[in-house]
Amino acid sequence: MDKIKAIIPAAGQGRRMKSYLNKQFMLLQGMPIIVHTLRVFQAADIISDIVLVCGAGEEEYYRKEILLNYEITKPTVVVPGGKERQDSVYRGISTISDDGGYVVIHDGARPLATVDLINRIAEEVVLSGAVVAGVPVKDTIKRTDAGGFIIDTLQRERLWHIQTPQAFKLDLIKLAHEQAKGADYYGTDDATLVERMGVGVRIIPGSYENIKITTPEDIIVAETILQGREKR
Ligand code: C5P
Repeated sequence: MDKIKAIIPAAGQGRRMKSYLNKQFMLLQGMPIIVHTLRVFQAADIISDIVLVCGAGEEEYYRKEILLNYEITKPTVVVPGGKERQDSVYRGISTISDDGGYVVIHDGARPLATVDLINRIAEEVVLSGAVVAGVPVKDTIKRTDAGGFIIDTLQRERLWHIQTPQAFKLDLIKLAHEQAKGADYYGTDDATLVERMGVGVRIIPGSYENIKITTPEDIIVAETILQGREKR
């Protein structure tokens, strides 16, 4: 199977973290969150190289303090990101020449993905061209009007929490981003941009452990998950 490139957007400033620090630099078991993420991609043989999208001006810090210091030896290009996540991913995609291959996109702030999940995503993208990881919703989900009154209750069997990794044929995701940019359309993930082209996107099982670090409580949960893994 052909090797796949990874794009890791890590340019978010983490405002919901109420921290002056880029949340990817916060420590999880004594190691920056982004290093956990990069190590999973380093360990996944299917990934040939990494495009790491960082905050503008953070490039040198990433190269020295993250890649060199933590021995991320897989070929890694560091590029500055943009205002929104979508802008950052687009910048990452733009650095890759279209060779008919595939890309895996994964949030820098999801340090608990596994090599197994990356492998399953990589296998599926070759078959379907567009695939995301997701887990079934556990709670009842309701839709409200602007005044906070419930309009309806959605059918839970068909509802998913969508995660990254998400993988796509490179020319498809490039076109999807270009069309979204042209229409000034912003989606909250990359699959949305493919969906609005009318192209089918598959979901494969992700993991409830594959959380995104967004608020300070998430660090506590992530520490607990990692401790649990050590015991297994
Ligand atoms: O903000 P959110 O939690 O959705 O961010 C998901 C991922 O996208 C994070 O890893 C974050 O660093 C990244 N991001 C980015 N550029 C932005 C905003 C977010 O690369 N402008």
